[in-house]
Amino acid sequence: MDVVDELLANNLDFARSLPERHLDVEPRRRLAIVTCMDSRLDVFAALGLLDGEAHVLRNAGGVITDDVIRSLAVSQRRLGTRAVMLIHHTDCGMSKLTDDGFRSELEQATGVAPAFAIESFTDVDANVRQSVLRVRRSPFLLHRDAVRGFVYDVDSHSLREIHVPVEA
Ligand SMILES: [Zn+2]
Repeated sequence: MDVVDELLANNLDFARSLPERHLDVEPRRRLAIVTCMDSRLDVFAALGLLDGEAHVLRNAGGVITDDVIRSLAVSQRRLGTRAVMLIHHTDCGMSKLTDDGFRSELEQATGVAPAFAIESFTDVDANVRQSVLRVRRSPFLLHRDAVRGFVYDVDSHSLREIHVPVEA
């Protein structure tokens, strides 16, 4: 069976097992989370989050790209969120490639150099700091004071906070 067909069968069971309900489009905890697409991080389970409580934005590395800022701008300006939680993690796939190497791989395979930044990294703590600063410095966001960054350990399941001093 195709993998998506398997998931469709799961969804039938899921939908049948729950009563119908309607939650507000505005996240109840007024929180947006930006994290990696890593398959080992179950954001809802790891944080005790429920449906309807937070926005969860994911990409390779959990990095703050223009598209993440776009989503955070909508999240804060239209959907009422205030706090931003950034979660990077140990053993990330983005630390196993380099910007130059992956860029030339894409260019050699296709004849086209990508217009986007690859955003690989070697030091996860430094990458969290960089991401916190990108959020704090974005002029498009309404709330930039309540942004905190963390590293999730994919083996121990625990979070470690990376403290980033507020600039004067
Ligand atoms: Zn990752």
